[in-house]
Amino acid sequence: MAEFRPMRRNRQQLSREECERILGCCTSGVLALTGDGGYPYAVPLSYVYADGAIIFHSAVQGHKVDAIKRDSRCSFCVIEQDEIKPAEFTTYFRSVIAFGRIHTLEDAAEKVQALRLLGRRYSPNDESGLQHEIDKSLDHVLLLRLDIDHLSGKEAIELTRARTQ
Ligand SMILES: Cc1cc2nc3c(=O)[nH]c(=O)nc-3n(C[C@H](O)[C@H](O)[C@H](O)COP(=O)(O)OP(=O)(O)OC[C@H]3O[C@@H](n4cnc5c(N)ncnc54)[C@H](O)[C@@H]3O)c2cc1C
Repeated sequence: MAEFRPMRRNRQQLSREECERILGCCTSGVLALTGDGGYPYAVPLSYVYADGAIIFHSAVQGHKVDAIKRDSRCSFCVIEQDEIKPAEFTTYFRSVIAFGRIHTLEDAAEKVQALRLLGRRYSPNDESGLQHEIDKSLDHVLLLRLDIDHLSGKEAIELTRARTQ
């Protein structure tokens, strides 16, 4: 496994627990892959965080899927807060980056479970609608699971100061 580098400004580093809280409450992030021609391909996606992994759904083809087939290594960045402070020439930010590998779910029961998790995250009060969607899409959708090798979170120093004072 790769060596993951430490954060330089480690006072601003978030705990594992805080990183997981952010992954649990946000709804989208940007998945970075090695895309066509060696150009990085950073593509926004909705996700659900469950059992320590990040689950996505996708069409079965396209730039993203071709990139994953070539190299399953990726990083996924989620921004929880980006509060511009014009008078201070800064932003009060809080974000998480997960590095890991993407696996395609092949097992039908696993796929259904992943679709349930995604569906309940985004449409929490519509079980019959969700079942209908799952029945409709199961054969045409790809379910992807990002298994995390390294997780880091960082916040603006001003947020650290406010939290620790
Ligand atoms: C907030 C958000 C949530 C999303 N959630 C999902 C999701 O859960 N699942 C999902 O499959 N898709 C989602 N999308 C759409 C996603 O960003 C991609 O457009 C989609 O997955 C198709 O990717 P592809 O590589 O197969 O597209 P392709 O059509 O194969 O990509 C070809 C080219 O189109 C351009 N392109 C593709 N997508 C985008 C984009 N979003 N913005 C600008 N240029 C683009 C790029 O230049 C790319 O190289 C979401 C988008 C946003 C903004």
